[in-house]
Amino acid sequence: MNLLQLFRCLAGEHKANERRVRLTYNGWRARCRGCGRKMVRFNDGWMLHR
Ligand SMILES: [Zn+2]
Repeated sequence: MNLLQLFRCLAGEHKANERRVRLTYNGWRARCRGCGRKMVRFNDGWMLHR
């Protein structure tokens, strides 16, 4: 949990934990460094997983 990042999360700016990225059959997956929510990598960057 990263407190500074958590504030960014509240503003809608999530950031993937690049050190814990996993490649699955659905693509690259990671957790947000601030709030821990699941994220998915697209061509233009990381998005929250729905
Ligand atoms: Zn977040």
